[in-house]
Amino acid sequence: MKATCLLIWLGLGGAALAHGPGLASDFGGRRVLFIGIDGCRADAVQAAMERGFAPQMKALGEAGVFTRTCYAGGEKNTPTHQPTVSGPGWSSLLTGVWADRHHVKDNRFLGARFQTYPHFMRRIKETKPAAFCASMADWPPINDFIADGSRVEQHEFLDVKFTATPDSSRHFIDNPEKDIEVRDVALKTLRAQNPDAMFVYFGSVDEFGHGAVDSRASFSPDSSLYLNAISHVDSHIGELLRAMRARPKFAEEDWLILITTDHGGRGNSHGGDSDDERNIWLIAHGSHLQKEELLTKPAGQTALVPMIYRHLGITPKPEWNPAPPPDPVPPQPADKP
Ligand SMILES: [Zn+2]
Repeated sequence: MKATCLLIWLGLGGAALAHGPGLASDFGGRRVLFIGIDGCRADAVQAAMERGFAPQMKALGEAGVFTRTCYAGGEKNTPTHQPTVSGPGWSSLLTGVWADRHHVKDNRFLGARFQTYPHFMRRIKETKPAAFCASMADWPPINDFIADGSRVEQHEFLDVKFTATPDSSRHFIDNPEKDIEVRDVALKTLRAQNPDAMFVYFGSVDEFGHGAVDSRASFSPDSSLYLNAISHVDSHIGELLRAMRARPKFAEEDWLILITTDHGGRGNSHGGDSDDERNIWLIAHGSHLQKEELLTKPAGQTALVPMIYRHLGITPKPEWNPAPPPDPVPPQPADKP
């Protein structure tokens, strides 16, 4: 059965038509492609690159930066501490703040504070209303909670919002297929639109880590099934990069490409504070990267949004990041994915 897909293309009228390829943007042609791979453990992505499973990410990391000095889970023994699960992880990656501010403690998103600490694309849109922002994901909370929860009075800030909805009758096992749907909408957007910022999320690697697709797989560099799942996503990334480089006036464009994950894993699970779960990685490619700093200085998941703003030439306002509110929600047990 073909699962129900939600695809919203919003017409923006004359303002969007003024937006073209190349330098024709509010950001002088600077653009962002942010790719998220759920549950992709750091030593496994490195093994995948070294063993020929991930040639696209390997080449991008060699031309830019591949670093394993990044971390999920906030700062231990502080109010920023958060479990290494997807809800808090993607919330931090997309808002630039930890759980002391966004208040997401698990995958239920109870008490989330996205109105105060919104998705970075809402800030882009507030700064430049004609900017073109796109989000494609096959884990529905990315768009349903983080993006929609950031809207002001239901005002949509995403020009493309695609959620490939998992087929509940098949639990998670159809995620590889959903990644293909996500890839195809991202390809269509790169070919037919002129995005200033795109977020493209692939969920299948995490499902392999959990053993949900094949019970022999696990979050480990020693699991060939897990490395194979990384390889599939790597091939999707290759197609995205080819479509990006084939854009008219690509030579004029200045793309920041970021690829990272929300958490690692141990055995078939994650959520805890082990190095295998907290230590993550980042591939960054772009013209204004502070490479030495990225390679040597530990960077939390909250460091990516500032990198995006810097690339686009957006100066964050102090009121975008007010002091954290008191925490009314006690920590909840972690659950998947
Ligand atoms: Zn998971």
